[in-house]
Amino acid sequence: MIPQTFDYTAPSTLDQALGLIAQGAKPLAGGMSLIPMMKLRLASPEHLVDIGRLPELRYIRDDAGVLRLGAGCTHYEVETSPLLRGKCPLLSETAARIGDVQVRNMGTIGGSVAHADPAADYPAALLALEAQIVLRGAKSQRTVAASGFFLDTFATALEPGEIVSEIIVPVEDAGAGTSYQKMAQPASGFALVGVAARLRRSGGTIVLARLGVTGLAPHAYRAASAEKALEGTPGTAADIQMAASRIAEGVEANADLHASADYRRHLAAVSAARAITAALARTA
Ligand SMILES: Cc1cc2nc3c(=O)[nH]c(=O)nc-3n(C[C@H](O)[C@H](O)[C@H](O)COP(=O)(O)OP(=O)(O)OC[C@H]3O[C@@H](n4cnc5c(N)ncnc54)[C@H](O)[C@@H]3O)c2cc1C
Repeated sequence: MIPQTFDYTAPSTLDQALGLIAQGAKPLAGGMSLIPMMKLRLASPEHLVDIGRLPELRYIRDDAGVLRLGAGCTHYEVETSPLLRGKCPLLSETAARIGDVQVRNMGTIGGSVAHADPAADYPAALLALEAQIVLRGAKSQRTVAASGFFLDTFATALEPGEIVSEIIVPVEDAGAGTSYQKMAQPASGFALVGVAARLRRSGGTIVLARLGVTGLAPHAYRAASAEKALEGTPGTAADIQMAASRIAEGVEANADLHASADYRRHLAAVSAARAITAALARTA
């Protein structure tokens, strides 16, 4: 289908873009979600502002113990960044599982986070990493924890006029182990369910467990009950199964033509056990 007529501006600075967005224009990044929605007439913006070409939003840097990613970084850049692979491998591993090579070359981390598809991959990793999301408007800047950003299906803490400008993740300490395990819908690659695990062990005991889940519920969430079940244990096979069985606790599971709620809950427990096992094997 053909989208409705719209105006298109490609500003050369972020300030220009934010000025237009403050007046009601809609940001366009990789277009991997927005353009299909416009073709299906699920979205009909009158004015698109192309922020996908702004160099100001395209960087990955190490900054005193944290890593800062500009919102315009493509999934491919996140996947292949030597800095991320070395210091925050969970994010690169997650990016590598998104869609196909065309989508990874065009789609951006900021676009994915802002779009907040309940089956998107990054939200699980960002929750497990306890990431911070920087939001900018023409005259404002604020930072929101990932745990407070994803509010509902396609709904986030973004206010009108704001964009996601930066994602901040911690530099993993050498002893931490992480893994992202996903059951993909075979046609699109989107997650039927995905679980990101981040674990730290000390003296044979798991002292920190962070589990982010996507695909299962209306929005990505931290599986607090499963995390609690894991912390303080040595992480035996029985400990892992016990924690994995709690991954969907307190959550209303999604159901659609691809998977029933019961099947999704089952996949979530399987993915959680795999993610925890793989992350544990990577702890020092
Ligand atoms: C065939 C296919 C397969 C896919 N498979 C997967 C998959 O397996 N896993 C997965 O996670 N995703 C998947 N995706 C989605 C993909 O990751 C998109 O790249 C992502 O959802 C949106 O990023 P984008 O840069 O393309 O944003 P766009 O499509 O340009 O924009 C999406 C929305 O976010 C807004 N927006 C964009 N950037 C910002 C910003 N910085 N701040 C505020 N608002 C912004 C736009 O206005 C729009 O509303 C797939 C997409 C396709 C087409």
